[in-house]
Amino acid sequence: MPDPFAPPPVPLSGGRLAIAPDVVEVRGKVTFEPSARAAAAFAEVRFRVEDPGGCPALDLRQDLDGLRLDGAALDVAAFAPVDLGGGAGAQMRVLDVEVPAGDHTVALDYQLAQPAAEGALPVEWRGGDGVRWDLWMSDLHPGRYLEMWVPAPLCHDRFALTLEVELAGTRRPHTVVTNGEVTVTARGWEVRFPAHFTSLSPMLVVAPTDEVEQRETTVALPGRRSPLAVRTVRHLDVDADLAACEADVAAWLAYLAQRYGPWAHGDAMTTFLWGPGRGMEYDGATTASVAALEHEVFHSWFGRGVKPARAGDGWIDEAWTSWATSTRRSEGPRFAADPLDLDGDPVELRPAHPWARFTPVGSYTAGARLFSGLAHLLGGPGPMRSAMAAWYRDNAGGLVTTDGLEAHLRSWSGVDIGPWWRRYVHGGR
Ligand SMILES: [Zn+2]
Repeated sequence: MPDPFAPPPVPLSGGRLAIAPDVVEVRGKVTFEPSARAAAAFAEVRFRVEDPGGCPALDLRQDLDGLRLDGAALDVAAFAPVDLGGGAGAQMRVLDVEVPAGDHTVALDYQLAQPAAEGALPVEWRGGDGVRWDLWMSDLHPGRYLEMWVPAPLCHDRFALTLEVELAGTRRPHTVVTNGEVTVTARGWEVRFPAHFTSLSPMLVVAPTDEVEQRETTVALPGRRSPLAVRTVRHLDVDADLAACEADVAAWLAYLAQRYGPWAHGDAMTTFLWGPGRGMEYDGATTASVAALEHEVFHSWFGRGVKPARAGDGWIDEAWTSWATSTRRSEGPRFAADPLDLDGDPVELRPAHPWARFTPVGSYTAGARLFSGLAHLLGGPGPMRSAMAAWYRDNAGGLVTTDGLEAHLRSWSGVDIGPWWRRYVHGGR
């Protein structure tokens, strides 16, 4: 059965087709050598191809040194970035080989450098014997999910990920903070992420232990039998009161579970505090500045508790989170409910191309404005939140679409929101 959220094949020269394979498992290994300021990486992707086969498209925003398909070496030029029509920066690496239907493995060798994606940051070396590394993803630009560091499919695809992280040539203790399961190995850690994760799920930060402060507490959540662990960490050079942040996170978690529905992740919420400008959500985790913290914790319900089925559906969680939280990016106060006429400028929040890979920045402003208008149509901010709570509970742990939310809001409210959707989501007139 083809994945209903996979983008359609794209014709290449010579009658061949670029296809989105079904990735089953990714295994990667990164060895940091701070004294040489170098990080060697290896990764293996196991994937399945449907009949009639084709040229598999994945992505990795690093330069390749070695490439093998099903054990046979290929020139690295056979896995080059190709424009599949998804817009600026949305190129995918397409194997220049037609593979038949069935199971295959592609293996890659490379050095971890600054990823070739807008806004990506390089590995940070700390004093010749230390390293600071954050996967630091973003929805705003193509290529800013796991594929910055490790080969990965588009974000509709769920796969198991195992990442070994090793340190070489240094005795300085380091700490790994992640939403995966960590096993200590002889030279580092093995981090296993569950098979329901997608390329936008994994959170991982590596830092010298002497540069971080950590706290851990628990919070009882409605709808959960055992208390949830609340792990809160900061870099010592980040100006934040860690105990105060921990208390805020615990309070938001309890509120969100009460208002919207049960926690959809594992046994911990993991927060890593960074300086101003950083804010990113993961499944039951965030790396964020203090100012962005409430917004990012909210995303563990909307954005990562229910995940966008395709990158193009990512506008929903930014628009809704901006409407429902205190956030610097939105223009008005939270819970606004103001009439929205149908004569405003049309806005496209959902990029139409199936290989598009970004969330329009207007999601935070025009998207929040749309929810304010919808709240007015639905009878106020209370009904608006109840409608979204019902949608969350129907889909918790699953992938959600723009069409699915429109259908839900119509049937929940009995209000025909179609004209607003057409104009302020799809940019129609
Ligand atoms: Zn956000």
